[in-house]
Amino acid sequence: MPDGKVYLVGAGPGDMELITLKGSRLIAEADVILYDHLLSMELLNHAKEGAEIVSVGKFAGKHTLPQEQINQLLVDSAKEGKMVVRLKGGDCYLFGRGGEEVEACCEAGVEFEVVPGVTSALAAPAYAGIPPTHRDCTSNVAVVTGHRKKGDDRPIDIPKAGTVIFLMSVGNIANIVKSLCGAGWSDDTPIAAVEHGTWYDQRVIKGTLADFLDIAEKSVLRTPAIFIVGKVVELQDKLDWFSKRPNVLVLGNHPQRYRHLGNIVHRRIIDCVAVDDYTEADAVFKDIEQFNWIVFTSVNGAKHLFRRLSKMGKDARSLAGAKIGAIGKTTAARLNEYGIIADLIPQTESSTGLLEEFAKLVIGGQKVLLPQAEISSKELPDGLTAAGAQVTAVSVYKTVEIEPGDVDFDYIDIVLFTSGSTVRAFVNKFGKLPPNTKAIALGIPTQNVAKEHGIDAEVIAQP
Ligand code: SAH
Repeated sequence: MPDGKVYLVGAGPGDMELITLKGSRLIAEADVILYDHLLSMELLNHAKEGAEIVSVGKFAGKHTLPQEQINQLLVDSAKEGKMVVRLKGGDCYLFGRGGEEVEACCEAGVEFEVVPGVTSALAAPAYAGIPPTHRDCTSNVAVVTGHRKKGDDRPIDIPKAGTVIFLMSVGNIANIVKSLCGAGWSDDTPIAAVEHGTWYDQRVIKGTLADFLDIAEKSVLRTPAIFIVGKVVELQDKLDWFSKRPNVLVLGNHPQRYRHLGNIVHRRIIDCVAVDDYTEADAVFKDIEQFNWIVFTSVNGAKHLFRRLSKMGKDARSLAGAKIGAIGKTTAARLNEYGIIADLIPQTESSTGLLEEFAKLVIGGQKVLLPQAEISSKELPDGLTAAGAQVTAVSVYKTVEIEPGDVDFDYIDIVLFTSGSTVRAFVNKFGKLPPNTKAIALGIPTQNVAKEHGIDAEVIAQP
């Protein structure tokens, strides 16, 4: 078997979109991914099915695997003919021992490539509103590690530069401030910590060399963080942009649609899966040709209906005699994939919008099929029945709650509920909506479910 290859890939500082196109492609192609902790775990969702995903994480100095074993694992996996991605936080060569990992490959005769990443040393200042260089301040910058072995309190070497950025320094900040003063930096030099840079819970803490230690102690610094020292820190008030936008917790499955609302914090809380028993649905689909209208309220309705049809040896031609309604552009786009162009897509992407459109048509006596979720709002079937249609609603999928991962509500301004099931899952997982957090709901049915659960949500339309 020919040897595989090792790709040393920089994953960026946290915001998952800050990975390079090349890095993202390699994650999707890898047989084995060995990853650290200081990176967006969501990136790993793009690994191919069956990929081996191994945490070799380093976090605040604690290593899950000693460096020699990481090196060995890289070499062994490649020797087994596998394509290995070694995913590292930020850039792969700036601190974090990337050089040693490829040296091990080199010595073992394993082929490798290096894919640089956006380093936290530059990304955290960028998201904090601090350009490391600026014509009015300085034209040079140094990046330094403030890490020292425990008990080593010798001064840190301070390079000659207008701006100095310190990584791995939270535990050693007192020594850093002392070393800067010792190297001739004046007491009133501004300094900022940027914690959790590019993450939704990023925090910027500022002071001067004179008062920063007190401020940092009161703020209880969190890791990971960088420190940035120099006149450029004065620009922060003016150039801050990230923390000025609200943080929006999105619980649905299409976070990219809501970017205009603020910084998106995505936590999937529900999944849509097949129902346990299709006897009733299959009996209806056997005679699907009898329907005058088939109305899809979601992508999942379409996906699961076509799955069942395919199991029966049927395809889109069984829908040839029916008119097709679709709530939402996304649902319509999914239907296109099955070769179907929807006849009716309401302007307002909701059951209400669809009922308004149907009110303009004659649907009395028409047979309407609604492939939907096991628990669905009654608004659409009731509205169509009231208009005289013969409605057959069948459950083709159900929503199940999944573990969404931690959320620090101190940093969440808005929770967006995209469906009734996201409301129910939220309440089950987190209980009440924390005070000072605003709720918004996609459409009136979702707002109603929120109200039933004691949550006052403002309605927004589907973007
Ligand atoms: N190769 C990485 C750095 C690894 S050293 C890079 O290029 O970013 C680990 C240090 O990086 C941490 O101690 C911290 O100083 C910094 N760091 C990593 N992610 C960070 C983040 N999101 N915000 C602030 N600092 C971060």
